[in-house]
Amino acid sequence: MAFSKNACALLIMLLPLAGGCQARDEPLTVVPDLVVRGVTVLSPVDGSTRQGYSVLIEGDRVVGVVPDADADIEGDPRLVEGEGLFLMPGLWDLHTHLSMADPNAGPLMVTQGVTGARDLGGVLDEIDALRDRILSGELIGPRMARAGPTLNGAPNAPFHRVIDSPAAAREAVADLESRGVDFLKTHNATEREPYFALLDAASEAGLEVVGHIPTAVAPLEACERGQRSIDHIATLFEGTYTAGFGSEMEAFQSMDAWLADTAPRVAECFARNETLFVPTLRTYEFRAHRAAIYDDPPESWAYLTAENQVAYREAMVPSDRDRNPVVIALREQLVEVGQAFTKLLYDAGAPIGAGTDLAAGGLIPGMSLHEELALLVDAGLPEHAAIWAAARGPGERAGGEALTGRIESGAPADLVLLRENPFDGIEALSSIEAVVLRGRILDRLELDRILRELRSR
Ligand SMILES: [Zn+2]
Repeated sequence: MAFSKNACALLIMLLPLAGGCQARDEPLTVVPDLVVRGVTVLSPVDGSTRQGYSVLIEGDRVVGVVPDADADIEGDPRLVEGEGLFLMPGLWDLHTHLSMADPNAGPLMVTQGVTGARDLGGVLDEIDALRDRILSGELIGPRMARAGPTLNGAPNAPFHRVIDSPAAAREAVADLESRGVDFLKTHNATEREPYFALLDAASEAGLEVVGHIPTAVAPLEACERGQRSIDHIATLFEGTYTAGFGSEMEAFQSMDAWLADTAPRVAECFARNETLFVPTLRTYEFRAHRAAIYDDPPESWAYLTAENQVAYREAMVPSDRDRNPVVIALREQLVEVGQAFTKLLYDAGAPIGAGTDLAAGGLIPGMSLHEELALLVDAGLPEHAAIWAAARGPGERAGGEALTGRIESGAPADLVLLRENPFDGIEALSSIEAVVLRGRILDRLELDRILRELRSR
């Protein structure tokens, strides 16, 4: 395909990365493999929409976004009629443990428009083996940015690496840097000195530290010292906060006071340092309603392997505590506090991330991310901001790309075509017409075929 109306302005719009309109040896043309025509392009960054556009894709990149009238299509790309449809960037689940998730997770995520995963912990060789299978096309799945082992003061899982001294922390950073991890994950048992050594060494290596706040460190301190992403609502409360209380109950009951007294100062720091907060609301909501979900499992469980459907049930047999209305109410309150803090952060201008904690119990790959976005909207974020919380990806310094979450020339061709506009109602995320995964289109027929196959495993 060439643009016969070879206007310089148009070419600049198409190829801002190609050096504009200076003299060149070769003619400036793009040869897309795929064109989505007549579509409404959604920008979750600011909530803006552009109607009647052609989106050109070559290989695994978007190479042009032009008004239909300006797109003079020649050649033989695959054409997708997008009139009446909406195109948004693919979503990232910003908190996964994919190497431990159900074997159906990769394809299932993609059928839900989840084309990226920020993986926060697992055995690095296993994660990379999974990533290689996905990149080679052997397995359908999201692109991945990964931490590898979780760096913790004491191991609470086999994939944790112990950093019990500043030297051990520095050694871990050097080792993982040489193995090419995208960022470093820490956890709640890391002691103060190893934690600060980790932050310093990571900063020198150009790596971000993400994950839990160590219990010995206050949220404000973690933010001030440069932890780049803080994950899970509970991490705000499980350390320095609860230390002053006699019981978990007492702590829970005081969270409203924390929201009023302490949270605004924390939010100010998160906004100033652009610290990402990934509340993982859905996983806490699941914990609150675990007994009810056990008693009446959702239809979506059918997409897990038969083996895991049994294992899931066995792993979540509710205890008396899980059925205690007081406990349920406290757990619901944690979700509400998490939502209120997330909204406070959003209003302060701090970045919000959407993640699920897949493979934690009760989460269904892809589908639970939609539920997470619904919880962000319920918290008071506009729909486009909730979608941006996922589409933003992990960030350039953490295995992402500058144009992740944007539909423009040079951006990754990870896209979702929808029948309804999710900016008008987040439930529109269930109206997927097609998914573009690294440039390859999976239309509704193909997505349904994948879903049928997953159900039969
Ligand atoms: Zn996790």
